[in-house]
Amino acid sequence: MPRTMHAAVVTAFKQPLVLREWEVPRPGPGQILVKTEACGVCHTDLHAANGDWPLKPDPPFIPGHEAIGIVVALGAGVTVVKEGDRVGVPWLYSACGHCEYCLSAWETVCDHAEFGGYTRNGGFAEYVLADPNYVAHIPEGLGPQEAAPLICAGITTYKGIKETDARPGEWIAISGCGGLGHLAIQYAKAMGLMVCGVDIDDGKLAHATSLGADLVINASTHDPAEVLGQETGGGAHGVLITAPSLPAFKQGVAMTRKRGTCVLVGLPPGSFPLEIFNLVAGCITVRGSFVGTRKDMAECLDFAARGKVRADIELQPLSAINTIFERLETGDVPSRVVLDFAGPVPESITSRANANADSGLGADADSATKPAAVLA
Ligand code: NAD
Ligand code: ZN
Ligand code: ZN
Repeated sequence: MPRTMHAAVVTAFKQPLVLREWEVPRPGPGQILVKTEACGVCHTDLHAANGDWPLKPDPPFIPGHEAIGIVVALGAGVTVVKEGDRVGVPWLYSACGHCEYCLSAWETVCDHAEFGGYTRNGGFAEYVLADPNYVAHIPEGLGPQEAAPLICAGITTYKGIKETDARPGEWIAISGCGGLGHLAIQYAKAMGLMVCGVDIDDGKLAHATSLGADLVINASTHDPAEVLGQETGGGAHGVLITAPSLPAFKQGVAMTRKRGTCVLVGLPPGSFPLEIFNLVAGCITVRGSFVGTRKDMAECLDFAARGKVRADIELQPLSAINTIFERLETGDVPSRVVLDFAGPVPESITSRANANADSGLGADADSATKPAAVLA
């Protein structure tokens, strides 16, 4: 095992990530070490690096929660995975397993959950620690690069669609057809739904059509609620808002049919107004949804393993991370960028004799538990 690895590090909010060497963490009891093969770049990583949300990560930290890799070392007592297994290290890095939420298969909202690439160092690095009880098990036949987007964008949209309660033959509107949205369209079609894709970019909408969307609406030139209302006779039974943009939230609720459910998964900072009369008189449900459980993970990966869903990926080296972030910010990523760790070592990595001495986040600190509650 090498002593150091290459990593992309958030050293301060709203600043470019720093490519540098970082000590390879050692797995403590109950932990595993994963050698990263690929890691998707989610818009959440951008929110994390910008410190967008009330619950903030603590720089310096390594983002990335779509890491896929091979288990290369086991800490004491680990029995549920073995060396050589291909696993994913997801956003839901771990949970307590004992609270009312964990006991009812809602581990996603556990008060003691840890988040990959946020409260724990993530996959923008050649090695990443993981909790073997919460890793994704990547099915045979699914390559690491194509699997990467599924463990966040895939699970979040698959779960979010289920949370709309829309049934086969009914309409679902997917607002935002980017990293999350392009997978949402495919899951929704595979689940027998009629799909309307909504975005502000004609390229994304053309892609949505090619993925099977039955209707597409450009929200920057048309009122999506009006068009959808006319086309479907009253709006979508389910709406899934993935767009990281506040106007999309008001529009999403307006697109919801009477008795329908609007599920929010996009996470722009801020709030949006709800029209009380329309919600009450239309018996409309507005519901948040946060990634998915381990059961959802297995199901969403199974769709891909059976060829029903396929992530559209663009491979880039770790050294391109700041350009990728700029492109995500401006809507210039067609679907999902995946960092490919099989490529050459990035030249711009700054070599430092004692990489972690000034960070306070070396191998030992990394394995310490940092409760989410103290981060606010
Ligand atoms: P992305 O940048 O790949 O895609 C966003 C898409 O939204 C783009 O296609 C963009 O053109 C489109 N868009 C922007 N403004 C719009 C508008 N007003 N109307 C319609 N479309 C619009 O981002 P992503 O990786 O898909 O992530 C999207 C959001 O989902 C982020 O806020 C991210 O943090 C959040 N997220 C939430 C969860 C969860 O568990 N709830 C999980 C993953 C990501
Ligand atoms: Zn994500
Ligand atoms: Zn719990």
